[in-house]
Amino acid sequence: MRMLGWWGLLAALMTGPVTAETSVSGAEMIETGSQAGLQAWIEAFRDRALTEGISAATFDAVMREVTFDPKIIEKDRNQNEFTKTIWDYLDTAVSQDRVTLGIRALEANRPLLERIEAEYGVEKEIVVAVWGLESAYGTFRGDLPVIGSLATLAYDGRRRAFFEGELIAALRILESGDVSAAELSGSWAGASGHTQFMPSSWAQFAVDFDGDGKRNIWGSDPADALASTAAYLKHWGWTTGQRWGLEVTLPDGFDYDQTTEAVRKPVAEWRALGVRPALGGDLPDHGTASVLLPGGARGAAFLIFGNFQVIEKYNTADAYVIGIGHLADRIGGGAPLTADWPREYRALTLAERRELQERLGEAGFDPGGVDGRIGPKTIAAVKSFQTAQGLVPDGYPSLDILTRLR
Ligand code: CA
Repeated sequence: MRMLGWWGLLAALMTGPVTAETSVSGAEMIETGSQAGLQAWIEAFRDRALTEGISAATFDAVMREVTFDPKIIEKDRNQNEFTKTIWDYLDTAVSQDRVTLGIRALEANRPLLERIEAEYGVEKEIVVAVWGLESAYGTFRGDLPVIGSLATLAYDGRRRAFFEGELIAALRILESGDVSAAELSGSWAGASGHTQFMPSSWAQFAVDFDGDGKRNIWGSDPADALASTAAYLKHWGWTTGQRWGLEVTLPDGFDYDQTTEAVRKPVAEWRALGVRPALGGDLPDHGTASVLLPGGARGAAFLIFGNFQVIEKYNTADAYVIGIGHLADRIGGGAPLTADWPREYRALTLAERRELQERLGEAGFDPGGVDGRIGPKTIAAVKSFQTAQGLVPDGYPSLDILTRLR
């Protein structure tokens, strides 16, 4: 389940496409991409909503206000088109401004955050970092009507089942009376509130932390939203006192076949292999860990722990998780990353990513499909190709690799 927050969306660019769903509710064909088509879709959807327990009064009152917004469709279509390199992403996600504002936000809400930390066991710096990436500490919570966005996306149909479910969940929020339709605004993808919850996540995880009887993650007071974020991370197995990961250095001759989240070893084994904290000292012993090279062998290396996988429940993109973790470290007084990045590389376009996969397949290295999504199989295929070429097999899909494949 992805939250698809404001910055999360940028990271989601890397997490890939979803299959098209072409089914049409009801028997008749519905016109695509217009206000009239949306209204016809809403009419056809009404039965299902009522069957799922939404009252006719709520449905009709709310849906009357919905208008078709082509900009939402455009954003959804372009999601996979543009990607950022991890260094460009981190430059913005963990900018000095965002660190400074995060320190200020933590100080301004310290008693609240300490109560949340005591209740859920999630460190306040992590909660503040999620707040910082999802809405710039509550500054950009999104001003599009959630119901309208979800209805438009469900009608559009690229991910119909998902957005229909979220639309029902959003209608249930309105029926709870915890927020009015006018106040239920968020991102184009329907995530809303200080930490950009999807409606189904609100249903499952939101808490009434300030005790006013409403689970209000949208208003100016962030108490419910921040506690809900901690509750979410706790639910997915957050370990109190465990780091998300840390920057490390790897010794010369390190076996790059091991630099993947799929290879997990006890910290003592990594230590024996020469993995060291980039800032000196000892590796913390947080159970099993993996080594990650999100920018290839010439970028920063990270040793990541179980809490990394918990943050992935917000958004699975490595860049996002590292962004949250590193922002939390900086807010807590930690140092910037020490390693440089291969900044001369630009991100591959969607067409180039597809071409890379196509050419890897033709050369006998199975990329797991040609979808423009750089997942574990494509990275493994790049590694095999690099090994065959006598290159450092770091799995980074650079323009150099594509050039060699051509
Ligand atoms: Ca409340």
